[in-house]
Amino acid sequence: MFVYRLLFICLASVAVAIAADPTPATRHTAHKTQATPEDPGITFNSVHVDGPYIAMTFDDGPSETLTPKLLDLLAAHHIKATFFVIGENVAEHPEIVTRAAREGHEIGNHSWSHPNFGKMSDDSVRSQLRRTDDAIRSATGSRPTLMRPPYGSITPREKHWIHDEFGYRVILWDVDPLDWKRPGPPVVRNRILKETQPGSIVLSHDIHPGTIEAMPSTLDALEAKGFKFVTVSELIRMATPKPSHPSPQAGGNPPASATPSPSPSATPMQQPSTTP
Ligand SMILES: [Zn+2]
Repeated sequence: MFVYRLLFICLASVAVAIAADPTPATRHTAHKTQATPEDPGITFNSVHVDGPYIAMTFDDGPSETLTPKLLDLLAAHHIKATFFVIGENVAEHPEIVTRAAREGHEIGNHSWSHPNFGKMSDDSVRSQLRRTDDAIRSATGSRPTLMRPPYGSITPREKHWIHDEFGYRVILWDVDPLDWKRPGPPVVRNRILKETQPGSIVLSHDIHPGTIEAMPSTLDALEAKGFKFVTVSELIRMATPKPSHPSPQAGGNPPASATPSPSPSATPMQQPSTTP
């Protein structure tokens, strides 16, 4: 079914980004997202910025044990990150989300129970987002403005009504260390270091011990390279206009940016050269 849909999308000349954000339950599944040319300002895989700014994002939490550990580390580094939380987990540990927000991190909506929005009715998607929006507001005192669909799966139509109804920006990513496959902390670190560039949105998950283990040396190394860490909303506020023609970045490895792009593109992390 994915093949047919992909083919259809290509024929329709819609830019296609293939990305993976699986959870253990569906880790074998490939996922795709569509970055349509007509939705600049709604969807972001990365942001064109004039400085060494990046956004670290952590999905699927909060985790009772791992997220507090990560928050301690981020605090020690004075780094602000963005957490795309699962509503169910927020309901279970609202105090962790409260703490994250209090410490300056951004909280985004990652659905209530991590279903595939691309295959759901509008009402079901609405309910997933609404319940999580409410849980986040109750934990932090404010409503989120960002949403990341589970698996990066969302239709162009959903993207637009969700944006209209909730005011959300849809945040994907351009750096994916595939940490959900639990490749070991050094691999997670090396993949992030290799792929991250100014404006990157780095995906990882604060529910995997190896990811949290990888973070001290990853953050040290990113800092040593001169990167500065901001939340996703801060990164978007720093956006500068892109050159008028597509300009592949180092290594011919352009991120599937959501800014207007005339041709189909795939996120580079689908073929990580570091994959064993
Ligand atoms: Zn997720």
